[in-house]
Amino acid sequence: MDKKRIYLSCPTMHGEEQEFIREAFDTNWVAPLGPNVNAFEKEMEAYTGAGHASALSAGTAAIHLALRILGVGEKDIVFVPSLTFSATCNPVVYEKATPVFIDSERDTWNMSPEALRRAFEKYPSPKAVIVVHLYGTCAKLDEIMEICAQHGVPLVEDAAESLGSIYKGKHTGTFGKIGIYSFNGNKIITTSGGGMLVSDDEEITKKATFLATQARDPARFYQHSQIGYNYRMSNITAGIGRGQLLHMEEHKALKRKIYRQYQEAFADIPEISMNPLNQDGDDNCWLSCMTIAQGACTSRGEKITPDMIMDALEKENVESRPIWKPLHLQPVFAEYDFITAKEGEDSVAEDIFDRGLCLPSDIKNTPEDMELIIKTVRGCF
Ligand SMILES: *Cc1c(COP(=O)(O)O)cnc(C)c1O
Repeated sequence: MDKKRIYLSCPTMHGEEQEFIREAFDTNWVAPLGPNVNAFEKEMEAYTGAGHASALSAGTAAIHLALRILGVGEKDIVFVPSLTFSATCNPVVYEKATPVFIDSERDTWNMSPEALRRAFEKYPSPKAVIVVHLYGTCAKLDEIMEICAQHGVPLVEDAAESLGSIYKGKHTGTFGKIGIYSFNGNKIITTSGGGMLVSDDEEITKKATFLATQARDPARFYQHSQIGYNYRMSNITAGIGRGQLLHMEEHKALKRKIYRQYQEAFADIPEISMNPLNQDGDDNCWLSCMTIAQGACTSRGEKITPDMIMDALEKENVESRPIWKPLHLQPVFAEYDFITAKEGEDSVAEDIFDRGLCLPSDIKNTPEDMELIIKTVRGCF
């Protein structure tokens, strides 16, 4: 008999989503606007504490609009963490600006404040800094915000992976001048695809909605004085989001429980470390990850690699995933600069990539699934 597939992270639906969709059909609001879109924005504002929100077609679209609104253009420099998904950086290149990649620190795996300081020495006036809260772990926001403020450079928070993660009592996504969330299929809540841009400045979210709907001037005729996009969230999609948001806290609690289960299950294996959580944070634990200690070997003296563990899991029909490959190592971004915390120092991002992997973190996984995953990983050591 074929073994059941155990997933990394996939959608978990509850039923209310369909109610909101049905309402949209019944009232014929099948369009990139409508009551679900407006309500989802309001509900996200209430959940995150963000002042204002603009619902969009994707997290990537939200990052793109954030950069457009901050005036990022040709020849501008934008600081971007290296250890992240390519979508964090792609919009920088859409606008023909130049990303400069910043190394990670070990405490949270996110943008290193020391490396950021060094980047400012080399490039004193970037147009923006993008920070990411990788796998749901809050970045060192106090330090990063202080550095940005010193230089008068706006911070964009890519909170695509960290909806529900709280840093010192406040939601990630609400610290930067602009924050963005993603509702892609494997995120902590999903709308199948979607995103949101948030800001305390209503002018910014209004501008986002304007640009997302083809930048149509308020004139009788179809008049345009700026280039716009078709980036608005649909009323159907927003319905899914409203249903999902009702279960956000439940999803977060289950994700955190998965993390703790792994942490306990591997506590007696010194060669395994779980991904760090922020000591000042209440992280959503979107994906639980682990790293293998340098030089860890099997009893037969073979070096233990992430590939070895991923292969062992795949044999049991369990999905896992490498850590994001650092962007400064990507062929498409090879021409751009990369800054570490100290001159000539080895890259922390590269080291995490070399020794790490993402473990199955789907909230529907059963105790038996968890047992199989844990047994399989332990069996590699
Ligand atoms: C998923 C993700 C995005 C992109 O969001 P989409 O909604 O898929 O466009 C951006 N940044 C990070 C860090 C992500 O994980």
